[in-house]
Parts: sequence; structure tokens; C-alpha cells
Amino acid sequence: MSARVLVVDDVLPNVKLLEAKLSSEYFDVITAMDGPTALERIAEHPPDIVLLDVMMPNMDGFEVCRRIRKNPKSAHIPVVMVTALSDTEDRVRGLEAGADDFLTKPVNDVALFARVRSLVRLKMMMDELRLREQTSGDLGILGQSASLDIDLTGARVLVLEDSQIEQRKLCDTLAGGGQHATRCNTVAEASAALQETQHDLIIVSLGLKKEDALRFCSHLRSSDRTRHLPILLVISDADTARLAKGLEIGVNDYITRPYDRNELLARVRTQVRRRRLQDLLRQNYQKGLEAALTDALTGLYNRRYMATHLPGLLAKATAAAKPLALFMIDIDHFKKVNDTHGHAVGDVVLKAVAARIPDLVRAEDTAARMGGEEFMAVLPDAGPDVALRVAERLRQAIADATVAEPSVPQGLKVTVSIGVAAARPGDSPEARMQRADAALYRAKQTGRNRVVVDEAEPAKAAATAN
Ligand code: GH3
Ligand code: MG
Ligand code: MG
Repeated sequence: MSARVLVVDDVLPNVKLLEAKLSSEYFDVITAMDGPTALERIAEHPPDIVLLDVMMPNMDGFEVCRRIRKNPKSAHIPVVMVTALSDTEDRVRGLEAGADDFLTKPVNDVALFARVRSLVRLKMMMDELRLREQTSGDLGILGQSASLDIDLTGARVLVLEDSQIEQRKLCDTLAGGGQHATRCNTVAEASAALQETQHDLIIVSLGLKKEDALRFCSHLRSSDRTRHLPILLVISDADTARLAKGLEIGVNDYITRPYDRNELLARVRTQVRRRRLQDLLRQNYQKGLEAALTDALTGLYNRRYMATHLPGLLAKATAAAKPLALFMIDIDHFKKVNDTHGHAVGDVVLKAVAARIPDLVRAEDTAARMGGEEFMAVLPDAGPDVALRVAERLRQAIADATVAEPSVPQGLKVTVSIGVAAARPGDSPEARMQRADAALYRAKQTGRNRVVVDEAEPAKAAATAN
């Protein structure tokens, strides 16, 4: 993930330390040593997230945060307050000023990256939703509001914790914050509850005594029903190695015991917001858009929508110096499906393939049917490595699936070839589509059922065979 981070602190070594840590993970860091300078930097070149020291002379962090929130141009930028360890009161004031989360000094690396990644991801989804609404001329869900104002009340949170005291504390805090908690003592109970009701978040204690919490998290990530369910881990200080493993398998965030009530609620809100946004983005495919912008057979966006949307996405990526990947996806030997089984069966296959695409990319990615049996996906913020991995996962999933069709008892199998044009800032939309097309052509030439990444890409030119 590449993101621009603004670090604000009046003590130079603090600025340097955070800058060094973030740069080592390839974040793009800008800095300011007082409030007014921070606000100027934000106005010049809006960052994706602000790490804000609380104690600063003249204008303190709370005031800076309030001003960020008050300005419609910056109201949507996530703000993390950096506070001293014991300042509970600061946290409450930070939240009142509009901060999204906290970090305590000295800042621990895992916490820093978890918080930054989680909030940047949230902002990216928000940006994408806003852009889509502009594209379709629909001011529906967000309207013109620039803030992260999404209804967060009544979220369903599943709590998996086998210590009764801890479970009660979690649930009481959630109830105090207006969320519904479902209490579970075992993995089996949690699985059953998830089957029964849709949840917005699951909080899992890493310290389950009889069961392996991480194994359960990994299972949640791999099963269709829960793949997109946010996971928040509750850990104790001694758990850092397992926490790293958890974040690696796709846990979204964590909180360390003993935690502060406000901290828990802030983190829950971020994840619930993320979940709601994901849902809004996914619904966005189905509803609200004029039929002129969606493809009737598959329900994906159509070529016309993509033609309007892509220049905006590219301009945004170029302005932010971020990568953006484009996939051209074409079903292999599709004509044979029509010739063998008829056009109606062909349509069933088209629909089934189309349905997998938005499922296998992120909610903030855009998928469209470009015509016939050709699809396109646009992945903001995906560099060549990520793009190749996602394309390969998509190709594999389609190759592995069997399309059910009553008139063909054994079902149907198809494969796709994917051409990928990855990061190259400054491309025109046409140039980038041509590069993806050329890569697709090579995938077809070299045997189909494969992914080819645009060869001109200097970072990685790879062709993966099946
Ligand atoms: P390749 O592997 O080279 O892509 O071969 P192909 O057969 O998939 O490609 P070709 O472009 O030769 O054929 C595409 C076929 O897709 C021809 C056309 O009849 C069929 N097709 C296009 N749109 C639709 C549709 O909406 N429904 C159905 N059933 N078929 C369609
Ligand atoms: Mg084809
Ligand atoms: Mg074709």
C-alpha cells in the first residue's frame, strides 16, 4: 500500500523517527513541526492520513484536528493522535476533536503500521465511492458531504472470548457505545452465530484457552461468507509474535489489554465504518445506477461507465503518484461454448464468470463488461506485484470453478486470459488500455489460461503459466 503520511510533531527527533519507520515501509512521508504548517501542507497536497502530536506550543493537536475536520477539503482525511501513554483524558478530547484513533508514545511499529494501514484503506474506499458517485452523476449515499459520516449505530459485533470477565468488559463497552454484541465462548458458537446472522465485526481474543484463535481467523478469511468480515484481535503484551502472524493472515486491527474504553470504541467504529463502506460499494453495483451505465446480462458496469470513470481514476493516481493497475480479462475459446451448448448456456457461463470478478478483487476496485466475453478491472493503488498476485488468483479461481447448468450435467469449465497494465504514472487512459490489450494478446498467443503483465513495465515483467 502506498500512501502519503503527514507527520506533525514539534520535537524534531520524534518527527525523524516516525519518518524513518514509515519510509522503510515505503510510505511517502511529509512533515510539519507546528499546527499552522501542518494545515498549510494539507491544503497544498492532501495526505492520506495525519499522525498528529497532541502537545505542541501555540496550536495544540486538538485544535489542528478540529480545523482539519471543519474544512470540507480535509474533513475526510483520517487523523491519528499521538499521545503519552497514560493520558486517558487526552484520548477523550481527541475523539471529541474528531480524531479517528490514537497511538501512544513511544510508538510501537506493529501498532503504527496496523493503524495507518487500516485507516488509509478506509479512506481509499471512501474516495472510490465518492468518485463513482460523481461518475454516475448520482449524489446518493454521500451527497456532497466530505466527511466519513456514515451511520454507525446498531452495528452487530460478535465477541469471541472464553474469559467471562473479559467478555463482560468487552460487551459492556460495546453496549455503552451503542453497538449490539453477540457473546460467544467457543469457536463452534461463533461459527454458528455467523451462519445465522450477518455481523459487522468480529472481536476475537488471541488468548483463547482451549482453541487456536489464529486458526479460526484464517478460516474466516478463507470462507466465502466471512471473507470480508473485519476482524479485531484482543491481545496481551506477550502476544506480539502471534499478532504479527494474525496481521499477516488478514486480521484488520488489534487492541492490547488493558485497553481504554474509548480506544476500543474508536477501533470498532473504524472497522464498522469500513464494513458499511464495503457494503455501500458493493451495493453500488446493484442499485441506484442508471441502466445506461450497467450491463444488463452481468450487472457489472458497462464500457460507457468505464470510459467515464477511468480518466478520473488515472488522474487521481497520477496526482498522488500512486500506481493503478488495469486488467483486461477475456474468456478463452468462448465461441466453442456457444457452438457446443448454444447461446443461452453461453450466457449462463458469462454471468458466472462475471460474478466472480468483483468477488475476487477489493470493494474499491471497479469491474466492467467491455463487450462480448471481455471484462476489465481497475485496481487503484495496486503496483505490479499486487496486480500480478490478484490477477493470478482470479485466473486460478475461474479455472477451478465449475459452472452449474441443468442442461449440462457435468457442468461447464472455462478459463480466462488476463492482460495486466501496471503502474506507469502519466499514461493516458487509452495508452494504458492498449498496454493491457497487448498483454492480453500475448497471453492468448502463449497458450491462454494465463496472466501476462505488460512487458514494458520496468519493475517486474512476468508471465505466469498455469
Ligand atoms: P479466444 O480464446 O481467442 O478469446 O477465443 P474466443 O472464442 O473466446 O473469442 P472470439 O472473439 O473468437 O469469440 C467470442 C465469442 O463470444 C463470439 C460471440 O458469439 C460470443 N459472444 C459475445 N457476446 C455474447 C453474449 O452476450 N452471449 C453469448 N452467449 N455469447 C456471446
Ligand atoms: Mg475470448
Ligand atoms: Mg474476444
